[in-house]
Amino acid sequence: MLGAGLTALGWTSAAALTPTESAAAQRLVAAYPAFLRGVEGGALVWREGTRTPLTRSAAQTYAARLNAPGLLDQLDAAYPACAPLTAPAYLSDPGRARFEPLFRKMYGASEAAVRAGLVTVNWFGQPLQVTRVNGAADSLRAVAQDLAAHPEWRPFLTPSAGTFLWRAVAGTPRRSVHSFGAAIDLNTARAAYWQWSGFREGQRGIPWRNQFPAGLVHTFERRGWIWGGRWYHLDTMHFEYRPELTGACATGR
Ligand SMILES: [Zn+2]
Repeated sequence: MLGAGLTALGWTSAAALTPTESAAAQRLVAAYPAFLRGVEGGALVWREGTRTPLTRSAAQTYAARLNAPGLLDQLDAAYPACAPLTAPAYLSDPGRARFEPLFRKMYGASEAAVRAGLVTVNWFGQPLQVTRVNGAADSLRAVAQDLAAHPEWRPFLTPSAGTFLWRAVAGTPRRSVHSFGAAIDLNTARAAYWQWSGFREGQRGIPWRNQFPAGLVHTFERRGWIWGGRWYHLDTMHFEYRPELTGACATGR
């Protein structure tokens, strides 16, 4: 079904994968074993037998590509898990381009479908709704347990500004990972967000500001969560469950 519409929607068809692309696709399979079986002939093979071609967006601009990335555009992300926290280069947003059909298929394609997979996670006394799909809720519970050893970080962690919310990213056709119950926002009072300083997406000069301690960020990353503070379009309160990108330091799983 996906294959039929690809050209019309502006994706280019996959040639043979480069070794780098192939390795990234294998990491995706390893991260979501309940759904994915392998990579074959330029396509991702699902356990139920369907295939998703590994394609790249034909879009020429940053925004157009972000609005409709191919699966290969998503896999390009070189996320610096557990590295020091530094200002990202212009338009470096590792993990921000998401091939949405993949997420819809795993977590649910409608609000009701996603809701069916939500469970409650106790976040320092605050009940949060998180998807149990792919072990995301269990992973967040483990993160909370790790973070509990650092009471000095508590002001960054609570109150959480929320997890599940079925919505598009403001002003775009893109669905936030909050829609899939696989993201958490921490305390907005300690956060920086690129839109708060009045910039347009893709504009140069967005300042990188961050108060979140490296140890806190690395604690999430070790459990498979990526941080919005590693994006040029920074969102320092935001973490999302993307275990395909954090392999290098995922010793806690
Ligand atoms: Zn968020």
